[in-house]
Amino acid sequence: MSDYKNLGTHKLDTPLLLSANQALARGAIEGGVALVTGYPGTPSTYAIEALLRVPDLGFRVEWSINEKVAFEIATGVSWAGLRSLVTMKMSGLNVASDSLLSVQYSGTNGGMVIYIADDPNTYYGMVEQDSRLFARFAVAPMLTPSSPQEALDFTRRAFDLSEEIGRPVMILMTTPMANTSELVQLGEIKSFTREPSFDFDIARYAKAGPAACVQQHKDTLASLVEFGKLTDDLNPLTLTDSSVGIIASGITWNYIKEVVESNNLKPCLLKLGVSNPLPKEKIKTLLAKVDTIVVLEELEPIVEEVVLALRSEIDHPIRVVGKIDGPLSRTGDYNVDVVSSAIHDLFPTQVAKPEIPEDLSQHIQDLQVKRLVTFCSGCPHRATYYALNEAIEKLGYKKEDVIITGDIGCTILGMNDPFNACWTEISMGSSISLAQGFKYAGIKNPVVATMGDGTFFHAGIPALLNATHNKTNLTIIILDNHWTSMTGMQPHVGTEVHSTEKNKHLIKPEEIIRAAGIKNIQRVNPYQIKKIIPILMEALTSPEISIVIADAECAIQKKRGGNGGGFLKVKPEQCVGLDTCEHSCLKVTGCPAIERGEDGKAFINPDACNACGLCHHACFHGAI
Ligand code: SF4
Ligand code: SF4
Repeated sequence: MSDYKNLGTHKLDTPLLLSANQALARGAIEGGVALVTGYPGTPSTYAIEALLRVPDLGFRVEWSINEKVAFEIATGVSWAGLRSLVTMKMSGLNVASDSLLSVQYSGTNGGMVIYIADDPNTYYGMVEQDSRLFARFAVAPMLTPSSPQEALDFTRRAFDLSEEIGRPVMILMTTPMANTSELVQLGEIKSFTREPSFDFDIARYAKAGPAACVQQHKDTLASLVEFGKLTDDLNPLTLTDSSVGIIASGITWNYIKEVVESNNLKPCLLKLGVSNPLPKEKIKTLLAKVDTIVVLEELEPIVEEVVLALRSEIDHPIRVVGKIDGPLSRTGDYNVDVVSSAIHDLFPTQVAKPEIPEDLSQHIQDLQVKRLVTFCSGCPHRATYYALNEAIEKLGYKKEDVIITGDIGCTILGMNDPFNACWTEISMGSSISLAQGFKYAGIKNPVVATMGDGTFFHAGIPALLNATHNKTNLTIIILDNHWTSMTGMQPHVGTEVHSTEKNKHLIKPEEIIRAAGIKNIQRVNPYQIKKIIPILMEALTSPEISIVIADAECAIQKKRGGNGGGFLKVKPEQCVGLDTCEHSCLKVTGCPAIERGEDGKAFINPDACNACGLCHHACFHGAI
């Protein structure tokens, strides 16, 4: 079992079992970091979560309001000469990217590390994005650890490298890599006594005219070349007598290592610990030695394209096995079977060809246990969407008459059965602006935008101000459960318990909404179904923008805080049975605590029920 709570104190003579996320956090401690910040985005979330559980670290660790803000705070710390780490998932990098390029070009002072976690095969939702392209786009150096030990070692070293080249250094991991655990050897903790300072230098810290901007670009390009020279040892090349060469990095390095070792293969191997810049001279050395080169990289064919370009400089023909001409896929993630299959033809007598269905993702989906992706039992969002559907129906609309835009976080689960309420999902805060677009397009019926409180603070506010300023008639529902729940219940600026405990200023959404001049705003507990339905009906028919804040704490957090508990019971004598019931509690609420009893009647699992009372409202027979 992982023992990350000892991250700050564990003795150096014995290794510690850590996930790569936790090892990266330890790397930051060893690197003498002065600030760690970020925005929750799984799988990167657990690096900061690990640090938050370590007492008395002696430096600041915080969840910021969004990735761009987190990135800028980390930049400020670095510009003042101290070391900083900022973490995010790939979609968070999109949010931070506006400042990323600017800071990369200006450069940094104290070592600054940006940890990004990509999610090939989208285990945690959103899009498949290859952040290596961002590194290339931003002329940003990027390290790619392939083990928890490397996550620690690379992170610690990344702070030094960042100071040597005067630029932020990115560290990229993918979901399986970030979650992989092993015994990790810890190193000494660096401690600095640096006085913060910052010099006036607009040629560097501002974009003071074309000459300064072009110079910054030139300096950034030069820093990347320098980074490549400093990190040559992180791209070990092993040349053998084999005419086959294999290039891999990150998690794919582990897959090929396993295949090579278990089949006693001796190919030439190039392990890429650096994803940007790529070691072109080493790749050329490898190409000069082999007839066939296999490029193992998930998602985009970035290394493969470089290999193809360099191939023309070699004086003999080289076959490239990758994803441009097959057999590897540009979507989903890889595993040992995928890698074995890709190299089977090259070592037919040694490597067995695994049976891999042509459409692997479809096959995986077919194997998955079919379960409803829904809200937790007792989740207040379930009550909100239940009430919203009721309000729409009571106003005489059919479901398909009223567009409901969804947003990122737990609230988007309203798109699934039994509510089928959210029609769209783009990015944090987009539900309001998208709804505004629908109205501009001429949709006459009410358009509803839904988002959580964390999402509202993250990116919803500018969209709200835009809709308000333009007097767009929208109904906006903020499902305020007081936490950033989807990623594991992180606090945000509106989390009351956190604000009190840590002596922080608590911000309520309505303070901002009222400041924008919106008068039509109601805060209501969604569990009070009889109260919220008329409020939603009024909002839907209002001639101006109207906001409903559905306010009830996340059921899980409420229970953890000692305020939950209790369960409801079905009176079997009054239940008409799930199959014959015209408004079955199971069907209309989708609550996972409601089960089918042996007698075909509803049964509430007391261990799962959170006593929210929604099924009580839903039952027309007074059986709950
Ligand atoms: S069983 Fe009923 S009361 Fe219990 S959590 Fe589910 S909906 Fe709420
Ligand atoms: S809604 Fe009431 S009557 Fe219908 S299945 Fe549930 S408990 Fe039984």
